[in-house]
Amino acid sequence: MAKRFLLALDQGTTSSRAILFDDEGGIYGSSNEEFRQIYPRPGWVEHDPEDIWRTQCNTARNVLDDAGATPDDIAAIGITNQRETVLLWDRRTGEPIHNAIVWQCRRTTEICEQLAADGLTDTFRERTGLVLDPYFSGTKVKWLLDHVPGARERSAKGELCFGTVDAWLLYKLTGKHATDPSNASRTLLYNIMEHRWDETLLQHLDVPAEILPEVMPTSGVFGETTVLGGSIPVASMCGDQQSALFGQTAFGRLESKNTYGTGCFLLANTGKEPVVSKHGLVTTIAWDLGKGPEYALEGSIFIAGAVVQWLRDELKMIASAAESESVASEVPDTGGVYVVPAFVGLGAPHWDMRARGLIVGLTRGSNRAHIVRAALESISFQTSDIIHSMESDTGERIPILKVDGGAAANNLLMQHQADVLGIPVVRGKVTDTTALGAAFLAGLAVGFWPNLDALRGIWQEERTFSPSWNESQRSEALSGWEHSIKRARMR
Ligand code: ADP
Repeated sequence: MAKRFLLALDQGTTSSRAILFDDEGGIYGSSNEEFRQIYPRPGWVEHDPEDIWRTQCNTARNVLDDAGATPDDIAAIGITNQRETVLLWDRRTGEPIHNAIVWQCRRTTEICEQLAADGLTDTFRERTGLVLDPYFSGTKVKWLLDHVPGARERSAKGELCFGTVDAWLLYKLTGKHATDPSNASRTLLYNIMEHRWDETLLQHLDVPAEILPEVMPTSGVFGETTVLGGSIPVASMCGDQQSALFGQTAFGRLESKNTYGTGCFLLANTGKEPVVSKHGLVTTIAWDLGKGPEYALEGSIFIAGAVVQWLRDELKMIASAAESESVASEVPDTGGVYVVPAFVGLGAPHWDMRARGLIVGLTRGSNRAHIVRAALESISFQTSDIIHSMESDTGERIPILKVDGGAAANNLLMQHQADVLGIPVVRGKVTDTTALGAAFLAGLAVGFWPNLDALRGIWQEERTFSPSWNESQRSEALSGWEHSIKRARMR
């Protein structure tokens, strides 16, 4: 029987989702299930690995049932996942030895500080493209090996498997122990220049090579699963942000995307060339389509859509996130008001953890609409700071920005983004770009789609926002923003 669908499994931080895509890249059905967040101490975040697996499995079964589809209808499964989250399990029984330590968890801050004090910051940056931060996986693995009784002995005997969430799902689906370079490149253990686990870094983190998964191409058959009944190939695994870049068909050099969620994640494709940032961005592997890794520069913004939630929940200025657009539209501009939402410090390119938020430029005439508008604009200004860093690092201009995520629905924000950047901002029809990327990657691997051009052909734009400002409007707005950032900084 002809295969009609691709099944994308999108394992996120708060929920697991399964989406069926047809051969036009359209969504045929989807299922979503939230799961428990575990906070053992302030700043610590865990997930129960069985919750991750159960909810992911349920959603896969539900989406097939709802669509009246069987495994025979599915050409392949593609996995995309919350990145950096760490699991260790027994190779033979599959039993996890501890809860998963989630990317958000800060328990390894001291380990990172010690590595930095030992002078290893550059060693890690040069080999992994990353910064020494608890966010990434490596120090979490070390923590588990150091703290779970018996873990060191068992790992030395080859009895344990380490994996990020992609590897955990693959193991549960197929029994195989493997990951892909987009996920491996977030671990602090993988040498992105030489495409291998790095002995030196493993030694610094005291992680035995015996527990590491095999690294296989992002797009390619990892194994077959019979968990849903008939046999289905698992044909892609990719970290969620890189998968979104692929789902936006940003295959070419300097093609870029921004996801506007609680925070923002910006990635620009740098092709076969890894670009090491001088502006606090990280270098990451975007994917490997079987011909070696392709790279991306990545920058993130801590507070993006969250500033809209703050207007709603703390200031009570708006009733819903969507209302920010109509309220901001009551005024033609912010009247010189700027909001800097440095609630948790400032990330790239400023990197000032002690910076705090502020509202500047207030006059007697400033009203709610000005402040709401300025808060929205703070999202696009922060984005433009990162784009400018990417341009400085690559020495080239980013030509267009593709967008997704909850706050990308805001037309006023997207128009301001185009104005501030002076480039087109393009929103696609499918907003589940992360899952779409997983489907594209799996579909390529099994010949459901023949090549990248076929994917470009089915990707559909919903709306393009063209820049409407001249150079002097742009530089005036940006200089006001820079001035406000300076005031928010503590150093
Ligand atoms: P996440 O995946 O981080 O939970 P989503 O992609 O679901 O985020 O987007 C939710 C975020 O987007 C919230 O912070 C919300 O405030 C913001 N948001 C949602 N809709 C709008 C809108 N129309 N205008 C501005 N912000 C919005």
